[in-house]
Amino acid sequence: VRLTTIAGPDGAQLAVVYGAQVLPVASISGSLPTTLQGLLDAGPAVWTELEREVRGLSDAQAEGHAIRNPRFLAPIPRPRKNILCVGRNYADHAAEQGAAAPVDPVLFTKAPTTVVGHEMEVPHPPGVQEFDYEGELALIIGVGGVNIRKENAMQHVFGYTALNDLTARDAQRRHLQWFKGKSYDASCPMGPVVVSAHAMGDLASVRVQTRVNGELRQDQPVSDMLFDIPTIIEVLSHGMTLEPGDVIATGTPSGVGAPSKRFLKPGDVVEVEVSGIGVLRNRISEGR
Ligand code: MG
Repeated sequence: VRLTTIAGPDGAQLAVVYGAQVLPVASISGSLPTTLQGLLDAGPAVWTELEREVRGLSDAQAEGHAIRNPRFLAPIPRPRKNILCVGRNYADHAAEQGAAAPVDPVLFTKAPTTVVGHEMEVPHPPGVQEFDYEGELALIIGVGGVNIRKENAMQHVFGYTALNDLTARDAQRRHLQWFKGKSYDASCPMGPVVVSAHAMGDLASVRVQTRVNGELRQDQPVSDMLFDIPTIIEVLSHGMTLEPGDVIATGTPSGVGAPSKRFLKPGDVVEVEVSGIGVLRNRISEGR
């Protein structure tokens, strides 16, 4: 199943992507949760129920419920906790940043206030000189747990989305811990859709591509990750409970702007494309 979150009359609204149509879940069933966080909290039996409802739709019903020109929000517009991120998870990205390939995963977080959706504007942080993009595959935890073993890790993944881990390199460097440089408002675009783990299937052929004003800057298969998703989940969940709705950004491939000092400026349009998911597009606007 392919899900998205759109702006509805009463706030964020969970919707199903049916072919080219976007249908609010509330329009196809009166009893299903109406937000993605609500759906995740409800657990696997309810996910199956949603899938059944979607499979039972006719094209005519879908047409009738479709929202014209939906305004996309992030899949979970305000996560309950920080976005969990892996740094330097591709050897050639570590190298282009002048760092050795890590022996253990490099972990950091982004504040929940960084999250924005597809086509939402990202204000260029005032005073920041080195605003950079990082296209990434992100996963969303469906079933929580602690001390999750690698071999069971994939059972905890609800689905996948595209994410742009926008980073103020100068602030990242100046404050030693990465948190500040990674947590400027609107610096975590996510979406436009969440593809369930089942629908996504094997990740072996999945690529992450990033374009700036149409120019391809990043293009690498996620199979190049130094630490794969089961390892990331095992390490993160060691003595730390993962919960439904937790978002994990799996790291960016090589090709960020920093090595060539090609940083983002107002007016730039950044697109992160993840195969099987789609294109996440955001324009950098004048900072406030
Ligand atoms: Mg990153």
